[in-house]
Amino acid sequence: MTELLTPTLAHIVEAFHQMFPPQLAEGWDAAGLVLGRADRPVDRIGFAVDATVATAQEAAREQAGLLITHHPLLLKGASFLPATDYKGEIVHTLIEAGCGLLGAHTNVDSAPHGTNEAFMDCLGITDRQILADEKNALISGTERRVGIGRVGNLPEPLTLAQLAEKIAVFLPATAGGLRIAGHPETSVQKVALCTGAGDSLFAQARDSGADVYITADLRHHPASEAREQALLNGGKPALIDCSHYASEWLWMEETARLLSDALAQRGFAISTYVSTLNTDPWDFTVSTGYTPGSASTAG
Ligand SMILES: [Zn+2]
Repeated sequence: MTELLTPTLAHIVEAFHQMFPPQLAEGWDAAGLVLGRADRPVDRIGFAVDATVATAQEAAREQAGLLITHHPLLLKGASFLPATDYKGEIVHTLIEAGCGLLGAHTNVDSAPHGTNEAFMDCLGITDRQILADEKNALISGTERRVGIGRVGNLPEPLTLAQLAEKIAVFLPATAGGLRIAGHPETSVQKVALCTGAGDSLFAQARDSGADVYITADLRHHPASEAREQALLNGGKPALIDCSHYASEWLWMEETARLLSDALAQRGFAISTYVSTLNTDPWDFTVSTGYTPGSASTAG
């Protein structure tokens, strides 16, 4: 048996982009290598949903040579990156630790093994179809269907409450948990899904005939309008609103394994870790509730 070698950063980026081609990213997105020297040997790779000061410091502690994050650090560009700016602090921390940074965003949402497919795997969803912008793409040398969001069937009908409880078990803990619009006893089997912010896909979710639409980051007006329309349509689709971060955390474990395998096939050995630091921006919630007539007059 030949001994596995240490890959360079370029070898890793090539193997990763075979699975998640940057060409699949939306036009407004920035997917690809943000920081790093192509010829530098890298034997440890970290994964995180967000590039934050904490996940950069973790990459330094872990002695990673590459941090792969789902959300792009410099999507909007920056004129200045001093370490007093949080983005500058992240860049300095990573460069000083000899750690590269790779952004893998809407190309990961779109591809097999990406954020949407990983979420569907956790629910055992079958008969999967693409929710929007369906097209063919070469993924690791094989022609595959890719696109935004997914739709498919649960193995058996559940009540909306049961489905929410099932999702709560596999998503990482966040302060906000899940918010649900719909009757808890509604029976659901056909599921539309868009991990991350999916409020631009209500029409596609409705047209797919889904019983429930799972997404994240829903704001008042789009959610309220979708709910009103659903009420005229027998309550379908119900809505489950997740933490954006939590909805996009699930793909990293399998990808770490697949990337290790792909590099091993090329004769390279790496180790990986998946960050469990919570990068959801909210720390705690308080339920509000002035109930008319409940105010105590005592004292
Ligand atoms: Zn996202």
